[in-house]
Amino acid sequence: MNNSVNTIKSVNEGLKKGEFSVEEIVADYQARIKKENPKLNAYLSIFDSPKLETRNYKLETSLLAGVPCAVKDNILISDEKCTAASKILEKYVAPYDATAIARLKQAGAPFLGKTNLDEFAMGATGEHSAFGPTLNPHDTSRVSGGSSAGSGAAVAADLAVYALGSDTGGSIREPASFCGVVGLKPTHGLVSRHGLIAMASSLDQIGPITKTVEDAAIVLNNIAGHDPMDSTSVPVSRELPDYTANLNKSIAGLKVAVPKEFFSEGLDNQVNNLAQAAIAKLESLGAHIDQVSLPMIEYAVAVYYIIVPSEVSANLARYDGIKYGLSSNKKSSSLLDVYLDSRAEGLGPEVKRRIMLGTYALSAGYYDAYYLKAQKVRVLIKNDFDKIFAKYDVVVGPTVPYPAPKLGELDDPLAAYLADVYTCPINLAGLPAISIPCGFADVEDKKLPVGFQIIAKHFDEAKLLQVAYNLEQALK
Ligand code: GLN
Repeated sequence: MNNSVNTIKSVNEGLKKGEFSVEEIVADYQARIKKENPKLNAYLSIFDSPKLETRNYKLETSLLAGVPCAVKDNILISDEKCTAASKILEKYVAPYDATAIARLKQAGAPFLGKTNLDEFAMGATGEHSAFGPTLNPHDTSRVSGGSSAGSGAAVAADLAVYALGSDTGGSIREPASFCGVVGLKPTHGLVSRHGLIAMASSLDQIGPITKTVEDAAIVLNNIAGHDPMDSTSVPVSRELPDYTANLNKSIAGLKVAVPKEFFSEGLDNQVNNLAQAAIAKLESLGAHIDQVSLPMIEYAVAVYYIIVPSEVSANLARYDGIKYGLSSNKKSSSLLDVYLDSRAEGLGPEVKRRIMLGTYALSAGYYDAYYLKAQKVRVLIKNDFDKIFAKYDVVVGPTVPYPAPKLGELDDPLAAYLADVYTCPINLAGLPAISIPCGFADVEDKKLPVGFQIIAKHFDEAKLLQVAYNLEQALK
């Protein structure tokens, strides 16, 4: 087994040829996790005996059958702990499977364990976990990117063949960029959020972190589709495409838009150069490149950090010390004190900051000035994208303005929020986007991976993946 190149495709081939059994490949990954995880802190829980509900799988029809995967610890797996990397849910055990998990189980996927994240998925570095940060496999003095920090690091270090993450403002694409792997955020409503611990429901979306674009398409084939258990899941009248079908198709003649706002002040020089080189590659593949402008994108971070805290303050009201998780041991003298003490003890500083910001933004007298205004600007941002997509197939640019920062470098909340400058507008508009590796930056004596982002129209994941695949092959 050559683990460094283990993809879904290659493991499926190996299983089909009988080169190894499911039990063997799972055991192999368990041994690797045992050895490597203490260095990276990518996994919060490691399953002793991944339930192989895979006895009836067919390797010919299900590419995921027997292929070991990791799951971000804010996605429920029945009878397993789901902490969201928060003290308040430290002992919480999931009573049911998230729909995405149920679908993976049906496909015969064995789960290796649950991966680390910023508490309740709030963060861009992975440092806001109550259980310690995940370190970047390319340089352990640096962050792996958040919030799907453990999923990104686990795939990059091959402690899983692939992983699930969630993305509200960049949480799949940021760790993919920092760790040098592929991260796909599907269109809002394509993958069910049922069983994903809610952060900001109008933006949250589950998606895959993989080593190749083809693997991302394979996972999407398995998890996409309508779910009546999620009110934001979009009913699709026709059958969903096979997302692997067009990967090979030439992109000659496709129209690619490059927004000048994605190359703004604050963009690292090497990241800029690598993104320009990727764009030149697209042109050499026959794509037609134009510079465009998305003027409202300038307001995206400000809008995002009003809307997200507002939804957070509502979604996290349920953690009251009674219905879920940790209840304070203090002799609280009233019901209100039980709430206050449990939340004070159980929630971390970034989560508290967002609850306070959101409560403020939603309060009487401020609602119109903040929340309502942010929603209006959100529509303008979406309109900007709609105008571009009337003429272009995809929009491209860097994923994050810089390679992985050092631990502690983004301690200032405002600096951390700015990491989302290229990723959060996509969630505000509900669009699908992918980050693929486009090369390495030389930083100190290390080579740090850099991601390139491709964005497509709503539900146009097939074209998104086609462009990503073509570029990935050309960059090899
Ligand atoms: N960094 C962003 C935030 O902190 C994105 C988080 C996410 O996508 N879950 O909100």
